[in-house]
Amino acid sequence: MDYGYRCRKCGATYTYSSNSISLYCCGQKTPRDFSFNIGTSFREHYNKSLGMYVPNRSTMNDAFKVSSDAASSYTGIEHNFVPKDPYDHEAFGISSDDIAESKEHYAKAIESGTITPEDIQ
Ligand SMILES: [Zn+2]
Repeated sequence: MDYGYRCRKCGATYTYSSNSISLYCCGQKTPRDFSFNIGTSFREHYNKSLGMYVPNRSTMNDAFKVSSDAASSYTGIEHNFVPKDPYDHEAFGISSDDIAESKEHYAKAIESGTITPEDIQ
């Protein structure tokens, strides 16, 4: 889990893997206000690729296997769909700079009230 801190004065954001540090910016303590799960723990979710709700990793892997087989027999071309961990940003070709930019974007969205910190956990 990464924890984001945002200065209330200048809006600068900082990200640390600890939620118990004392960070100071603009001469005042900067509160923690958002967090990012960069771990690999599985979260039950509705998988858009599969078009179904997946309660655990094994169900998801099975479903990908089934849809791969179906696609292979339907098209006559070997298919092998694999799940990509949405937190495995490198699998999507997203650089650390992109992540930093995205975190900043989220921080701004939270500040403006567009999303809540819970939305991005
Ligand atoms: Zn500041």
